Amino acid sequence: MRYSQYLLSTLKETPADAEVVSHQLMMRAGMIRKVAAGIYSYLPFGLRSIRKVEQIVREEMNRAGAIELLMPMVVPAELWQESGRWEQYGKELLRIKDRKEAAFCLGPTHEEVITDIVRREVRSYRQLPLNLYQVQSKFRDEIRPRFGLMRGREFIMKDAYSFDVDEAGADVAYEKMYQAYRRIFERCGLRFRAVEADTGNIGGTSSHEFMVLADSGEDAIVSCDSCEYAANVEKAEIRPPQAAAPVLTQTLQKVATPARRTIEEVAEFLKARPEQLIKTLIVQTDAGETVTVLLRGDRELNDIKLCRLLGCNDVELASEELVKQVTGAPTGFAGPVGLKARILADSEVRFMTDAITGANELDAHYTGVACGRDFIVETFADLREAVAGDPCPRCSGKLEIWRGIEVGHVFKLGTKYSAALDASFLDAQGQEQVLFMGCYGIGIGRTVAAAIEQNNDDNGIIFPMPLAPFQVIVTMVNPNDEQVNQAADALYRQLLDLGVEVLLDDRDERPGSKFKDADLLGIPLRVTVGARGLKEGALELQERRSGEREMIPLAEVGALVAARVRQALSA
Ligand code: ATP
Ligand code: MG
Repeated sequence: MRYSQYLLSTLKETPADAEVVSHQLMMRAGMIRKVAAGIYSYLPFGLRSIRKVEQIVREEMNRAGAIELLMPMVVPAELWQESGRWEQYGKELLRIKDRKEAAFCLGPTHEEVITDIVRREVRSYRQLPLNLYQVQSKFRDEIRPRFGLMRGREFIMKDAYSFDVDEAGADVAYEKMYQAYRRIFERCGLRFRAVEADTGNIGGTSSHEFMVLADSGEDAIVSCDSCEYAANVEKAEIRPPQAAAPVLTQTLQKVATPARRTIEEVAEFLKARPEQLIKTLIVQTDAGETVTVLLRGDRELNDIKLCRLLGCNDVELASEELVKQVTGAPTGFAGPVGLKARILADSEVRFMTDAITGANELDAHYTGVACGRDFIVETFADLREAVAGDPCPRCSGKLEIWRGIEVGHVFKLGTKYSAALDASFLDAQGQEQVLFMGCYGIGIGRTVAAAIEQNNDDNGIIFPMPLAPFQVIVTMVNPNDEQVNQAADALYRQLLDLGVEVLLDDRDERPGSKFKDADLLGIPLRVTVGARGLKEGALELQERRSGEREMIPLAEVGALVAARVRQALSA
């Protein structure tokens, strides 16, 4: 491609609304342009990188035996009603009507459509197992679209769905996808971890997320410092504390705590540490149930763990009125002593003695509180958010916390959708059996963004070779110099013949600004064609990542560059 004839304009200024570096650089390098919140056009330079990821994904999916198809983006409501998700799915599902007032949605994921296809097409166990995938635009009306392609509303996803005769078969399909995902993200040149994940409201029994390590990641991940255990914080288990001999030095006593409501205020006022307090949360579930949850004062509630324990979809803190109704006191003074309510507690609370809690009375707390003596808990469970240093659930190691970007997700779905949509097959005995499913997603645009998040410097993007829109940029120092122009053009043609993807910067611009653009665009190799080098019969080859430069004899440049590209792609 000749730059002078290409559609590629770089920006000097960082767009004000771009918070993370990948979004800033994708805008500045002319890869994407915003059309509306969370909705982008992929400009030619950006699209090339998107297509590279898609290509790697297709190759590895095909290698793993998956088969490509393409489903519609617009999906009739009936299918979503059959699965029950029409009502369950929140506002992320964009529901629309056609001219006949028939209801549709823009597909945020395609379990319903694929299950409908398979229930029509598959009759016999002989047609199984089956893994079907597509690369397609999804729409999710995200509440806070941000970070460019990282969290868009319209975004390209590879989604695959496996169908098996039984659970053992589904486990094999899952393992195949897990391995294919490892290869995909390795080939993309990313540093990532596969972590155990919560299955959320998609349902199912087991899942892993593929997380690219990056400080800007929206997800917190824990991993053990000594074993392989890694999990999303939403799901991270914490080894329950060991029973300790109770230290009971104090008796229960009510003390005045005028206008001290928060853990910090009460701790400071009573000259105690936050971990000596018992935090009492009055929580309401989406099913309308009210429960009281106890945590050590310095801990945070993990909503997802609580939802799992209660079997609900969502929990929120009770309103001021409800707190008053349950405890008889304004918020800030709730406590379990004498409370007539369903009390759940984090495992750590079981061994708390000489503790401090609210007294269910304005401006009053109890000190000297002991769990078991002064109040009874219905259930103890792991309910808190993991923090760095917590004990690993699998070994004697400690948990570390880091941030990551979820680029891929594999789920075991069981029979959730096949049962709801009545997708079955006839087994070898002619018996009708329900299908076992799995689903597997990769965010294509998010993977490009994550790669840039991991590979950049002050001057711009540093594309890993496999994702680079062009592998080489040939920069003419002065395109008006006949010799320079001819030599650069000859090299350009030679590289094209060798199958190298090359951008020829033939623009009539100052060399300094061309070099700046080349750095910003992050093309892995740059060949500079200038009059001075030509006089000596050599061209300068520079590697974007290391910045290393070397002079290469004119006749050898083409072959050497092609070899370097091949080498980087096979690494
Ligand atoms: P998140 O937790 O980030 O909202 P998710 O768990 O809802 O994502 P999945 O349903 O697992 O997403 O979708 C599969 C993949 O699609 C994700 O792993 C991610 O790479 C990508 N993806 C999901 N939502 C978005 C989005 N809003 N913008 C870009 N990519 C997305
Ligand atoms: Mg996910």
